[in-house]
Amino acid sequence: MKDGTLKECPFCGGKAKLSNRLVVDGTQVKTVYHIYCTKCLATIAEYDTEFGALAAWNQRISADK
Ligand SMILES: [Zn+2]
Repeated sequence: MKDGTLKECPFCGGKAKLSNRLVVDGTQVKTVYHIYCTKCLATIAEYDTEFGALAAWNQRISADK
């Protein structure tokens, strides 16, 4: 995935960053992804895939306009 596919933060115009962490879901350990702003720390919900998080972030940007 290219960094360029992430849109800027809708609140401050800062650089957005993809992050992930491990969570325990029942008996399974899975990775969840979310995106946050490196400047104002705005964030979105966590998604099962990088693509899901990316799409949610980019959609929110356009929805707020
Ligand atoms: Zn921001």
